[in-house]
Amino acid sequence: MEDVVIAGAGPNGLMLACELALAGIRPLVLERLPEPTTENRANGLVGQVVRLLDRRGLHDRLAGPIGPPAPAFVFGAMRLDLTLTDPNPLNILGVPQRRVEAMLNERAAELGVEVRRGHELTGLTQDADAVTLDVTGPEGPYRLRTRYHVGADGGRSVTRKLAGIDFPGVTEDRTLSYTANGTVPAEFADAESGGLRVPGHGVIPPFFHYRTGTGLFVYAPFPAGPLISTMELADGEESGDEPPMTLDELRASIERVLGFALPVEPPTGDGPHLLRRLRGRNTRLAAKFREGRVLLVGDAAHVHSAIGGPGLNLGLQDAAGLGWKLAATLHGWAPAGLLDTYESERRPIAERVVMQTQAQSALIAPGLEVTALRELFGELLRLPGTVQHIADLMSGADVRYEPATDHPLDGRWAPDLVLADGTRLAELTRTARPLLLDFTGSLGDELRGWTDRVDLVPGRTPGDATALLVRPDGYVAWATGATDPDETERKALRTALERWFGHPLDA
Ligand SMILES: Cc1cc2nc3c(=O)[nH]c(=O)nc-3n(C[C@H](O)[C@H](O)[C@H](O)COP(=O)(O)OP(=O)(O)OC[C@H]3O[C@@H](n4cnc5c(N)ncnc54)[C@H](O)[C@@H]3O)c2cc1C
Repeated sequence: MEDVVIAGAGPNGLMLACELALAGIRPLVLERLPEPTTENRANGLVGQVVRLLDRRGLHDRLAGPIGPPAPAFVFGAMRLDLTLTDPNPLNILGVPQRRVEAMLNERAAELGVEVRRGHELTGLTQDADAVTLDVTGPEGPYRLRTRYHVGADGGRSVTRKLAGIDFPGVTEDRTLSYTANGTVPAEFADAESGGLRVPGHGVIPPFFHYRTGTGLFVYAPFPAGPLISTMELADGEESGDEPPMTLDELRASIERVLGFALPVEPPTGDGPHLLRRLRGRNTRLAAKFREGRVLLVGDAAHVHSAIGGPGLNLGLQDAAGLGWKLAATLHGWAPAGLLDTYESERRPIAERVVMQTQAQSALIAPGLEVTALRELFGELLRLPGTVQHIADLMSGADVRYEPATDHPLDGRWAPDLVLADGTRLAELTRTARPLLLDFTGSLGDELRGWTDRVDLVPGRTPGDATALLVRPDGYVAWATGATDPDETERKALRTALERWFGHPLDA
């Protein structure tokens, strides 16, 4: 019998596999594709997920040490001046999804995870003790029994369907978008901004959703080659059997959106090159993230517009939120209800992503009323408080899980602390073990019953908190600012330890 089977070796399935392996569980990953996909999807990671990768030592593997937050970003094709925020919560890591997946693949292999490629999940039933899976592999069909099964099998999740979990939401079919790698003659390049100088429009900034009366135009000069896309209102229905997209379709769409025939040429350099026509947009949220011994992560649990790049911020943090709780359940020390907190914590965050991506889609739609709304919104975006609110929402910095105390850090993503000896919290969290950071030097005794599960980190820090209990997913489960915590605070610490990490050993 397997402990955990994960369907899907996309980014979220692989991340979950790594988290489980760090917590001492060996999951088995089934992936229906025989080879890693070369499909282009995400162009970058946006928000707390960048710091999550740093906390696992994975940022280094993709791009070296983590940099400062971004000075600007966009919301609904409107510029967010992040210099107005304090603190600025929005980190961005501009790496394509296939590189993230390759890195996670490599990490999973190092951690001893078995990934069976060319093995497709086709059937699922569960009883009180286990889940039975039907799988079709290169040698034919076979069966597996597993104590838990996780569907990380994407927006069309077979796991979700087989587990009978509804996927309510809306499928909007009014929009049509074209995206392709392509080049534009040098005379259109604006050297100063990196954007495009287009007759009738001045300079269109790079990576900016440029909105006209008929649609959207985006010029994204990525290091691997520029990506150009448009979005318009669809004037027909999907035929169900459309031919592959051509560069001419993009050229024609640009002319409709910009009123100018931009001479887009085929891309240069090594592929794979993208040519993608997308009709409509799906916004859906699984009715539950858990059904008995079956759980969902990532796109299997939620799909929404890719505007602003929130997908992996949500999905990879789902994986980090689920990994340690599922491992604790399998190790037998999970307190009652721990696994259910995966859904009670993560689903409201997915609801917020659905909300903000729908709000952005409304802001980029054509129409005079929308233009008026954008004018008003533009005025609001000059107010630092508004920019802070939106940046916190997009990054996930506004997430607060249920706190144990009224300390402002409690329930929040643990700040990027640097200890007095120069050690960064991000270096201490690579093992994904829970940590009690004790800068009072007096809390070691309180941890006595949990030393097998929670590590004590003594030291000093210049920050306001004098002690923090940090969960493996990076969130604070208890905090104090007292130099000598009193019995009430100590009791709250013991309660938090028991709530998240189970009974003490000597109890
Ligand atoms: C055009 C586009 C642009 C995007 N841009 C961004 C961006 O800039 N930033 C961002 O953060 N996000 C972006 N996203 C979203 C991001 O790509 C997704 O959120 C992400 O791919 C979800 O990962 P996943 O692991 O949940 O699912 P997937 O990546 O879909 O992986 C699921 C895996 O499961 C496998 N599978 C499916 N069925 C089975 C089965 N029955 N048995 C075994 N295996 C199975 C599939 O082959 C696949 O490998 C974008 C998405 C799109 C479409």
